[in-house]
Amino acid sequence: MISISKFRPTANPKTSFNRSLHFVPTQVNFRMVVYESISCPFCGQSFELAVDTSSASQRFTTDCEICCRPFEVIAECEPGEITNLEVI
Ligand SMILES: [Zn+2]
Repeated sequence: MISISKFRPTANPKTSFNRSLHFVPTQVNFRMVVYESISCPFCGQSFELAVDTSSASQRFTTDCEICCRPFEVIAECEPGEITNLEVI
């Protein structure tokens, strides 16, 4: 498992505040996609992964762009920013 911790602890008082903003126009979602460089657990190559930061906590499967093997990613986000990214 490779863990990449970024910027600051996940406990942030701003998170609950941002979740209450339901009236944000859908166009803003384009800005919610953040590209993060991650390393493949199989071949070790790094590539850019697009993460939709409008979800505070998410877990999904993606394919390595180099060796095409699938692996799981756990991402914790604040709107427009990835706070924690784990590759399993
Ligand atoms: Zn790979």
